[in-house]
Amino acid sequence: MNNPHIVILGAGYGGIMTAVKLQKSIGMNEADITLVNMNDYHYQTTWLHENAAGTLHQDRTRISIKEVVNLNRVHFVQDKVISIKPDAKKVKLSNNELNYDVLVIGLGFEAATFGIPGLEEHAFTIGDINSARLIREHLEYNFALYHNEEPNNQARINIVVGGGGFTGVEFLGEIANRVPELCEEYDIDKHLVRIINIEGSPTVLPGFDPQLVEYAMNSLESRGVEFVTGAMLKECTPDKVTYEKDGRLVEIPTMTTIWAAGVKANSIVEKSGFSTNRGKVEVRKDMRTPDYDDVFVIGDCALIMDPETGRPFPPTAQIAIQQSGTVAHNVKAFINEGELEEFTPKLLGTIASLGHNDGIAVLFNQYKLFGWKATFMKKMSDNRYLLKLGGPGLLMKKGKFNIFY
Ligand code: FAD
Repeated sequence: MNNPHIVILGAGYGGIMTAVKLQKSIGMNEADITLVNMNDYHYQTTWLHENAAGTLHQDRTRISIKEVVNLNRVHFVQDKVISIKPDAKKVKLSNNELNYDVLVIGLGFEAATFGIPGLEEHAFTIGDINSARLIREHLEYNFALYHNEEPNNQARINIVVGGGGFTGVEFLGEIANRVPELCEEYDIDKHLVRIINIEGSPTVLPGFDPQLVEYAMNSLESRGVEFVTGAMLKECTPDKVTYEKDGRLVEIPTMTTIWAAGVKANSIVEKSGFSTNRGKVEVRKDMRTPDYDDVFVIGDCALIMDPETGRPFPPTAQIAIQQSGTVAHNVKAFINEGELEEFTPKLLGTIASLGHNDGIAVLFNQYKLFGWKATFMKKMSDNRYLLKLGGPGLLMKKGKFNIFY
């Protein structure tokens, strides 16, 4: 009899960690493993805001798949997943079709623009290496053009960030640090540049500890960020955005709108006919779909409820990485008709960087950290992930060791 075929879709946090764990735990004669990913690299999504702002080169963020996956053990297919046919146990790729016995879906997230006119066409999103690199290049191009036009066009150096959640705030921290460098490079008075955050709630980071939120806003304001809270973004065109606040419409001239106010699960999941809740698969406790025993879902494509709040756990890398342990265990158990275990998230904390040398954090639901201590913890957490993924070699190559920078 042929080995069962395990197919993992997506080499994000959840997918690649599952592959790395399975390559160690599953014997050659036990199963064949295939990993499918659009690119031949894995990227740290949680660092993309730095690449977008231009404070960290994308080569630090991406990791070649062959560097962490044993290609003698895992068959890697670089291709785009188009759809999944769970009844036929098939995955349609751009250039191929795969049959599976067990499937792990880890295709991550995509931007949600909620039908706001012009956002999809004209705003930028921080979603992957390509989109982050595009933002960096776009910013440089516009700063470079500023002195090449008469009269100078303010829209080229106004930067609008839609959304003051974690992604928006982390990007604001980086761009606030980057703007003075850009100004120096392109001979622009830094006081002319506007960085404007538009947030629908009365405060940024809604629901987060108020003292830490205040700290974050003060830190960003001191570096020139303007906050417009309680305001809804209404329209985006190539050279302006319109928001509504207190019943009044306000326009900001800008050629750079970064939309950071919404993500949803990869739409392939819903389009492939899995039953979904808010676009995600509400997985069983063992991380399988409600309808198919042979399909596991991980990371941002999976929805798990927090019994304490009755609301879904927010999609995070932290949870995706933790889930990979359960999924890898359960995939092995499934093919060997063993016992599957349940996934229980262990929330270690939430950390938001406010630039390379500043941040805020709540650890173990009680310890608050500000400034470099939060940054230090974030870097430690990033380094821990690298160690788990690729061992000391990868940590030395890609790790963040400079605590104060
Ligand atoms: P992802 O990591 O998104 O990976 C999905 C993979 O699937 C990618 O490799 C992609 O190329 C591939 N893929 C997608 N579609 C296809 C297709 N059709 N065919 C083939 N391959 C495909 N979380 C935290 O815990 N802490 C943080 O500090 C934090 N900061 C963040 C900062 C930013 C700027 C962003 C955008 C997110 C942040 N998050 C953070 C959230 C976190 O990044 C996500 O929750 C996490 O990446 C989800 O992991 P995943 O494995 O589901 O998918």
